Amino acid sequence: MRILVIEDENKTAAYLRQGLTENGFVVDVCSNGDDGLRQALSLDNDLIVLDVMLPRRDGWSILNALRQAGRQTPVLLLTARDTVADKVRGLELGADDYLIKPFDFAELLARVRSILRRGPPRRDDVLRLADLELNWPCRRATRAGKRLDLTAKELALLELLLRRQGEALSRSLIAQQVWDVNFDSDFNVLEVAIRRLRSKVDDPFPRQLIHTIRGVGYVLEER
Ligand code: CA
Repeated sequence: MRILVIEDENKTAAYLRQGLTENGFVVDVCSNGDDGLRQALSLDNDLIVLDVMLPRRDGWSILNALRQAGRQTPVLLLTARDTVADKVRGLELGADDYLIKPFDFAELLARVRSILRRGPPRRDDVLRLADLELNWPCRRATRAGKRLDLTAKELALLELLLRRQGEALSRSLIAQQVWDVNFDSDFNVLEVAIRRLRSKVDDPFPRQLIHTIRGVGYVLEER
């Protein structure tokens, strides 16, 4: 497995190179945005660890150019700022995960392995969990073969839950992703939408897939 690290801070880059190499990965390092993009496009990388703040060309621009070029290489973003807006921006541009600096190497390694376990990304494909299916290009959702009658917002909500299944999604992240607004502390609209989605996706079926995580938000998974 080959990992491209695009990081301008020598210390962090060296630390990543050493740690990832010790864990059996082949590591290439680029220390500026222009070289980073070139390598990201030209090499057959299994994963890219991408710092956001870079000289010449920032991580957002690299990620955007990579996805525009149709490359679905998984990207783990390293951001210095822990803000919802930054995370959402990264995810919207097609990052697979993000880590806030400073981070523990063990956590980075766990994220890297988790992304690689997901296998090749299938962004415009059929999303599935158990007997729940969402054909995203057709905007058609079914459960146990039965068509679910969902509104556009419910489809967007289900898409997010399916793409990030097994992951606890905070209500503010969901609000940002699905409504493109920050609800601050009032999540009424979101809660109503989740209730409606559950009434269609879960209530008529024996197994519940949408679960509430108290104090956090929601997760879609088989339990
Ligand atoms: Ca940097």
